[in-house]
Amino acid sequence: MSKAWSRVGCQATIVRMDHSPASTCAHRSKLIGCEGLVVAVLRNGGAALLRLDNNEYDLPHGVRRWVVAWDDLELHKPVGASKPPAYVVGFSKKRRVLKYHAVAPGTKVAICSAPVKPLPFCGWSLAFSPTTPRACSECLALLTEGTVPAP
Ligand SMILES: [Zn+2]
Repeated sequence: MSKAWSRVGCQATIVRMDHSPASTCAHRSKLIGCEGLVVAVLRNGGAALLRLDNNEYDLPHGVRRWVVAWDDLELHKPVGASKPPAYVVGFSKKRRVLKYHAVAPGTKVAICSAPVKPLPFCGWSLAFSPTTPRACSECLALLTEGTVPAP
């Protein structure tokens, strides 16, 4: 098994079109900038078969799979390696009202920008989840909207 095979399952972006087969290069203007998944290794490890994330109707001839040279690709982390952002629980107390917030690990500010403290009994080790009792509604809303940048 060649080393190239370890790249199957990686997400990649087509960043240039200098080394790919002519059939791919012919559509360079449409394909550069596209992202996709490496689904196979071709040409004795010299090129990737990339399944693009785009809709078929956005792509030349409605084709989603393209042979792209490795040198024309920028590889991302394998799918599954990038976990969804995990937040820990921090608390705030305002007029005796206790609230639990979602906090990016390593910070002391909740994602709703409230200053928070670590939990007295377990510090920063508890993961924030929507089922957390007394969870801050702002933090929950931000998380469900998915507008929070990954920590
Ligand atoms: Zn909050």
